[in-house]
Amino acid sequence: MIMRQKIVAGNWKMNNTIEEGKKLTSEIVNMVKDEVSGNVQVILAPPYLNLLTTVGLLQGAKNISVSAQNCNENPSGAFTGEVSIPMLKAIGVNYVIIGHSERREYFNETNDQLAHKVDAALNGGITPIFCCGETLSTREAGNHFDYVCNQLTESLFHLNNEDFSKIVIAYEPIWAIGTGVTASSAQAQEMHKKLREHLASKYGQEIADATSILYGGSCKPDNAKELFACADVDGGLIGGASLKSRDFVDIAKSF
Ligand code: PGA
Repeated sequence: MIMRQKIVAGNWKMNNTIEEGKKLTSEIVNMVKDEVSGNVQVILAPPYLNLLTTVGLLQGAKNISVSAQNCNENPSGAFTGEVSIPMLKAIGVNYVIIGHSERREYFNETNDQLAHKVDAALNGGITPIFCCGETLSTREAGNHFDYVCNQLTESLFHLNNEDFSKIVIAYEPIWAIGTGVTASSAQAQEMHKKLREHLASKYGQEIADATSILYGGSCKPDNAKELFACADVDGGLIGGASLKSRDFVDIAKSF
């Protein structure tokens, strides 16, 4: 039996002021302490502005960590409006979401640029949660497996074994994000299995088997159990449902 890290990460996106975020975080901390198994890693990904207060509120919370939603690939310099990995590291952030489909679509992030962001995160000691996923038209054309595998190849396969072993992957079909349409557990499992095979072809079975692959896209308390029960689904990246403490913690209890 392969033991992979189980992870439930909440991507708040552009939601919550600092005060709203404090309230949500405090509720989650209290519920997680009492209700969530210690072998599940819970991650909160608030907006940049909330990171420092969130890190502060999580002091002493054993299995909860903080993630940024993005980063710049440069360590410092004239990049107005951007935030670097060393800045995130300095305040105690442990993870960074890289390549979310909204970043790819609205901010034109390419596989090549994402490879640089992944490098920056790893160099700075922050774990990338690397997102991949296809549009509906790509799926309907039957190209979804190749498309998503290629996202991994182009952004991650330059890494050596040691660095690759630090990566968390999140498969998020774009047609399921924020739409209320979830991939069926069979569709999720089919893609996750394909991705793991793809990882094994490059890094070997042992590393592939140790890599956590999360599912994201309209994951809710009422479908999380079925999704997380799939052999190759190791948890979730949760958007909408991560904004409600009860729903988010119920998802974290769904293993
Ligand atoms: P959703 O978002 O749960 O609201 O579909 C998931 C994500 O974009 O990470």
